[in-house]
Amino acid sequence: MSIEKFSLEKVLSVHRWTSTLFSFTMTRPAHFKFTAGQFARIGLKAGDDLVVRAYSIVSSPFDETLEFFSIVVPDGAFTSNLQHLQAGDELYLEKIPYGFLTLARYQLPLPQDLWLLGTGTGLAPFLSMLQDFETWHKYQQINLVYSVRTAAELAYAERIEEIAAVFGEGHQGFRFIPVITRDPHAPLHERLPALIGNGALEQAAGLALNPASSHVMLCGNPQMVEDTKEALKARGLTMNRRGEGNIAVENYW
Ligand SMILES: Cc1cc2nc3c(=O)[nH]c(=O)nc-3n(C[C@H](O)[C@H](O)[C@H](O)COP(=O)(O)OP(=O)(O)OC[C@H]3O[C@@H](n4cnc5c(N)ncnc54)[C@H](O)[C@@H]3O)c2cc1C
Repeated sequence: MSIEKFSLEKVLSVHRWTSTLFSFTMTRPAHFKFTAGQFARIGLKAGDDLVVRAYSIVSSPFDETLEFFSIVVPDGAFTSNLQHLQAGDELYLEKIPYGFLTLARYQLPLPQDLWLLGTGTGLAPFLSMLQDFETWHKYQQINLVYSVRTAAELAYAERIEEIAAVFGEGHQGFRFIPVITRDPHAPLHERLPALIGNGALEQAAGLALNPASSHVMLCGNPQMVEDTKEALKARGLTMNRRGEGNIAVENYW
């Protein structure tokens, strides 16, 4: 990997949500322009090698800094080191962003309702989209569905309400729908494909999934993405290709 493709950025803050989830911010170089939903490639030196991983950008495209939301994978080549990150440390950032999990990919059906379905750190690109005024202008209803295992993993819950208040001021159609899969007492605790199959997700949103008007984005765990895709297809929704179709996805591994 050519080191010239990267700039060296300073870590500004680190916030630890749980022992395996944390967020960090770093400096954003002037050349680094991105669209909400895209990901960055971040590098850490391990001896002479540069270990690089993809990270969805949490921040608004208008922010002066970059924010990321990370898992800690025990023995993971990248995160076993990244977990010790502290303000003042340096990280490599590839100079260009990547990715097509952006609202620009949709032409048809015309936008009416947006469903953002993420597991764990798969929430990240949706936080960026919600910090873009255009998202709020385009859609009459926005459902953010965030599936985690335990309530402690529900990172960003307060920030989500703040973001909705600031970026979606006056917008009446935002629903934040948490799903807590290991808490049988949580209002929604089944896996996303089951919640689509039995209608509970639409009930929580107060809206039906509709092939003629719904844009649905899935991000995170590949098994969730695959199974949810199938559940949506069973409801008549189609994969988005060349601008047409309802479903867009991003797998994290
Ligand atoms: C487009 C894209 C965007 C991504 N954005 C993010 C992000 O915003 N935040 C983030 O934490 N990760 C994200 N990832 C995953 C990230 O690139 C790394 O896989 C992760 O940092 C772990 O790296 P590692 O070397 O420690 O473990 P790896 O060797 O990369 O992964 C080992 C195993 O850990 C598990 N795993 C990996 N990533 C996750 C995860 N995020 N949540 C739960 N289990 C996981 C999988 O079982 C995987 O096989 C993204 C991946 C892609 C392809």
